[in-house]
Amino acid sequence: MQILKIKGHESFDPNKRRNWSASTLQEVAECPKRYVLRRGNFPSIWRKSGFPTKSSSAQIRGIVVHALVSKVVDFVESSTETPLQAAMGYLRKNGGYVELLKATIEVELDKLKGNPRSEMFIDLFRKELVSEIASLRNQTQFFVNKSLTHFKSTVPDAVGSANLTGSTKKKIGIVNSEFHIEDASYPIEGFIDLLVVGDQRDRILDFKTSKDIHPEYWEQLKLYAWLWSRCAENQFPKETELSIVAGIGTIETISLTHEDLLSLERDISAKITESDQLISLKEPMAIPTAENCKFCAVKVVCDDYWESSVGSNAGKTDSWGDLRVRITSDLGGGNWKVTFLDTGEIGMLLLGERDDGSISVDAEVRLLGVFKKVTEDDEICIRLSQSSEIFLYSPPRK
Ligand code: SF4
Repeated sequence: MQILKIKGHESFDPNKRRNWSASTLQEVAECPKRYVLRRGNFPSIWRKSGFPTKSSSAQIRGIVVHALVSKVVDFVESSTETPLQAAMGYLRKNGGYVELLKATIEVELDKLKGNPRSEMFIDLFRKELVSEIASLRNQTQFFVNKSLTHFKSTVPDAVGSANLTGSTKKKIGIVNSEFHIEDASYPIEGFIDLLVVGDQRDRILDFKTSKDIHPEYWEQLKLYAWLWSRCAENQFPKETELSIVAGIGTIETISLTHEDLLSLERDISAKITESDQLISLKEPMAIPTAENCKFCAVKVVCDDYWESSVGSNAGKTDSWGDLRVRITSDLGGGNWKVTFLDTGEIGMLLLGERDDGSISVDAEVRLLGVFKKVTEDDEICIRLSQSSEIFLYSPPRK
């Protein structure tokens, strides 16, 4: 992996019109600074907006499964055949789940091109995802089968077959996948994995590729139910059943009455106001905790992380972690003498072939996912793995 040169974040416009979602409200509640940094501009590293994320095969797996479930359900919804016939026909025509999954994986991997933190892992991700194709197939099939149970066994009988206008974008039927709702009064939106419109009650289903069901999943579904209760195309708001379908066999369900949903409004409105305020501060608050920072995509540009006990990897013990050093002299062969910025200790950074000539004395280097080894001579050496990241850091313009 190349050495990336970063200058901190250059700009973030808090006044830019943005729609909140369950996940972005949650992100601001966890750490406002993360929200802001993730949406800043980093022209020194790439031309797109936001900080590039380091993807993983687990992340791509979730996206691929959701995309394929949506494709099958959309086809069934638009077909004049029975749901089972339509799904079987679609799968047969496209080579079955395995071929469809492979094609969807390629679409997602293609999106990583140009991402300086992920592009070099495309082949590795492909290999990992293809090696678990049987498990992806089981997962997708489980979600598709769960979706099919909500279709009537005859030709779909559209509840309201007109194209939606205004706040929603898709044609509404009995079963609607990836249903987008943008609220007309509040700046907030949601994508419902599966919305099933019924006579007695409506159902909202969310598919999670994780095995466990976390409390925030319910917050997300309640928000979707609230959005749906206010949606212009919801002509008869009624009790809503919320289900989380997780792993390949877990389903949990709760019900909300229309009155429950109405009472959510105050809470959601307060969260939106608070989030707007938190991200518009000149120095958005950082909340460096082990849980928040462990997988934070922007920790390398977050000084609060490096200056906190969470980001400090001090001490003479062998360990994996993140390190911040200043280069003090060139030892040759891609090896550098360094000073650890949080302790002042001296050590050696062993870059070997990954030294591309961009490092020089006095530079600040931020390292993610490296191994700190204490040698028999009591020297601290920093070693890299294939996935370790090296950033040459210079502070942002003031
Ligand atoms: S590293 Fe931690 S404190 Fe910094 S932005 Fe990320 S979550 Fe927030």
